[in-house]
Amino acid sequence: MFDDLKGKRVLITGSTQGIGLAAVEAFARAGAKVAMNGRRIPADLEATLARLNGLGGEVVFLQADVSDSAECGKLVDAFVERFGGIDVLINNAGGLVGRKPLPEIDDEFFDAVTDLNSRSALMVTKHALPHLKAAAERNGTTSSVILVGSVAGYTGGGPGAGLYGAAKAWLHNIQKNWVAFHTKDGIRFNMVSPGTFDTAFHADKDEDTKARIGSGFPMGRFGRPEECAPTFLFFASHACSGYITGQVLDVNGGQYMP
Ligand code: NAD
Repeated sequence: MFDDLKGKRVLITGSTQGIGLAAVEAFARAGAKVAMNGRRIPADLEATLARLNGLGGEVVFLQADVSDSAECGKLVDAFVERFGGIDVLINNAGGLVGRKPLPEIDDEFFDAVTDLNSRSALMVTKHALPHLKAAAERNGTTSSVILVGSVAGYTGGGPGAGLYGAAKAWLHNIQKNWVAFHTKDGIRFNMVSPGTFDTAFHADKDEDTKARIGSGFPMGRFGRPEECAPTFLFFASHACSGYITGQVLDVNGGQYMP
């Protein structure tokens, strides 16, 4: 079904675990050339790469802290040096940073949340843009940028997560501008917007709490990272979504229906 992803060059930020790692695996199975990115080198990197490289594609690890604009540029440069260009960019890096209600928010926390969730995606996309454009011209098809939003981008976020929700809403909004001004470059921009997924993102909750929260969703449980991965393949594949741009695909078990 995703045959056209074979050999495609895919950069996935924040992908050493959780939703990002499941996406790396899915693209590797589809025969793509993938860069897994993290701020730190994972302890089990060698074993992880050996496993991922046995799935049918080619996977490398590129270390970069995408909260730092200079590192965003270096990450794109390193990827292009390795694979010769970029066909697909997935801006997955993101997170709460912490939970702080409004009275406790200071400049440092504001910067940390917005740098990780908003500025990172902007800066990596900015640096990747010429390469995505060149790939579209070379391939004669569209290149694809996928943002990772959140149910919090609609609802405003849970306790102490207002800045996180706002940073994700910013992404939900800015992709409209990118669609308006960069579709001519042969680039599509779409968003995968997860609901509540069982990853380290929810490490502050025990299993009983997760089960109780999940029971309130129509699907009755948290999502699993591998249940999000096929949506990335769909938006990456020109054959599947070549005429789809500027859209948000909500992968949330019915938790929120915009
Ligand atoms: P996770 O915490 O399991 O994984 C986050 C990944 O990002 C890790 O690989 C980590 O190394 C990387 N990362 C963090 N900071 C980084 C930085 N500065 N530079 C580079 N990499 C960095 O989280 P997850 O649940 O897999 O979340 C993935 C994406 O999905 C995030 O954007 C998150 O906001 C979004 N999301 C998650 C949920 C959820 O319930 N899990 C819900 C909505 C949206």
